[in-house]
Amino acid sequence: MNSDAADSETKGGIVKIANYRDVEAREVGDPGAKGVTIRWLISKKDGAPNFAMRLFEIRGSGYTPYHSHDWEHEVFILKGNGSLVTENGTRPLSEGCVVFVPGTQNHQFRNASDENLVFICLVPVEK
Ligand SMILES: [Zn+2]
Repeated sequence: MNSDAADSETKGGIVKIANYRDVEAREVGDPGAKGVTIRWLISKKDGAPNFAMRLFEIRGSGYTPYHSHDWEHEVFILKGNGSLVTENGTRPLSEGCVVFVPGTQNHQFRNASDENLVFICLVPVEK
């Protein structure tokens, strides 16, 4: 094994490989949320200092709160159909869509179908 590869693993922390199903799914209890679970796939707990990867599942007719914050979202829709509501209107979402929500923009993810809407959402780690 080459020593550069070994160094990069020890300098940057422990490499994590996991199945998302093994990460606990927590119900999102925020006011304005309905039928939403979140899994923190990669976070500060794993030694990631800058970015967190979360997986959301929104059950049929569920939605996230309509909210805003300073940081952006980078989203990848893995499964299902739904919509993104912003101040500029409502746009459809389906499998394969990538979404960039800039900071300070109000936004809400909605599932209009019976099937779960599943997506990855990346955020900066709170410091
Ligand atoms: Zn948000």
